[in-house]
Amino acid sequence: MRKEKVPFNEKIARFMYGRNGMDGLNKFIFGFYIALLVINLILKSFILNYVELVLVGIYIFRTMSKNIWKRQEENRKYLKAQHKFTSWLKLQRSKWTDRKTKVYRRCPSCKKTLRLPRTKGAHGVNCPCCHHSFQVKVQLGTVSKSR
Ligand SMILES: [Zn+2]
Repeated sequence: MRKEKVPFNEKIARFMYGRNGMDGLNKFIFGFYIALLVINLILKSFILNYVELVLVGIYIFRTMSKNIWKRQEENRKYLKAQHKFTSWLKLQRSKWTDRKTKVYRRCPSCKKTLRLPRTKGAHGVNCPCCHHSFQVKVQLGTVSKSR
């Protein structure tokens, strides 16, 4: 019987069938590994060498893993944390750009962050999400150089 000749990419596809492969968390691990590699070019730390090795190990393990459900669960947690972090970063950026005209306060009922005009004094606020009313105190009014 003649053995059929299988193209290389077909072999890889067959090998990777039923395995986790590349996902968001693996991309992050790989990026982190590359960053450490570059940093370690300067530091030449032997501890970082081990950390790099562990990262590569985790990366290979997660890519080859056949326990897809568990890997997807890890990836879902990672994506959730990443989303939380980028939302926080966005909020910090808008807090900084609006710092002279707006204040940011958290609704005590639904914990949503509200963007309010920076007007000095105590004000009643009605949350647009949960319609809860609460008091907000603003220490400093709109900072303006022209006045
Ligand atoms: Zn609310």
